[in-house]
Amino acid sequence: MIDRYAVIGNPVAHSKSPWIHAEFARQTAQDIEYGRVEAPADGFEDAVSKFRRAGGRGLNVTLPFKERAFRIASELSERARSAEAVNTLLFDGSGIRGDNTDGVGLVRDLQQNLGFALAGRRMLIAGAGGAAQGVVQPLLAAGVAELWIANRTAERAIALAARFPGVRGCGFADLAGERFDVAINATSAGLAGQAPGLPAGILDLRGLAYDMVYGRDTPFLAQARALGARACDGTGMLVEQAAESFFLWRGVRPDTAPLLASLREG
Ligand code: NAP
Repeated sequence: MIDRYAVIGNPVAHSKSPWIHAEFARQTAQDIEYGRVEAPADGFEDAVSKFRRAGGRGLNVTLPFKERAFRIASELSERARSAEAVNTLLFDGSGIRGDNTDGVGLVRDLQQNLGFALAGRRMLIAGAGGAAQGVVQPLLAAGVAELWIANRTAERAIALAARFPGVRGCGFADLAGERFDVAINATSAGLAGQAPGLPAGILDLRGLAYDMVYGRDTPFLAQARALGARACDGTGMLVEQAAESFFLWRGVRPDTAPLLASLREG
């Protein structure tokens, strides 16, 4: 029987993951099938069980289920444990293994694809949801000098930051007067065509603005570009986190460069 994988979330109709994994499978000559599972808000756990009982080998988990995926895993990688969020499930034997590849995906995109060294930088993450949770520890491990997490609901940023020594959490208004070398937009505001609501002037003009939302020019990126900063969307993170999931499932590492070039050409 062909090994089956899928992306599970709500919504998932827009997801590029099936195309990305089909390309990885073709490139590495792996015989797999990769589909989409749209789970209802109250039916994530049932949908995972059904997929697994039908012989599924693994799932990518997307919005809004990463924290629930963390809770159903019987075994967790170190990075999933640190994130308290899971974006990759592996089914083998009797257990469910949970991992998180978002952080390594972001760090690889920033450092290897975009050539932006992280060591010593002053960094802001806007947002405190599943995506933000997954990237904090890998960014610290990459050597950022100072890390702030700011969120529309300040309490969530404060609680997330409190899990990591030296990281500061606050609301957007508390950023007034601060300046960063790099600002990562990990909110979903751009999906609705909105800016997250950060104070003006927080980004150094030689800095980098990175929006995890991919495939569209968000207000956050447009504002940064108008100020003269470098502006990048989350396409590279998407491809790199997928490559890491593919590696976990199949034991072979695909080449991300051709896919990135093809996605960037549109
Ligand atoms: P999530 O858990 O639902 O969290 C959403 C976050 O966005 C929360 O911090 C929320 O703030 C904030 N937010 C939503 N609307 C906002 C608005 N209008 N203004 C300001 N803040 C707003 O979602 P997630 O899983 O963290 O994902 C966040 C985004 O990252 C999504 O767009 C997702 O597609 C993208 N993402 C991309 C990749 C990639 O590979 N490129 C990987 C992961 C995620 P409150 O707490 O105040 O509600």
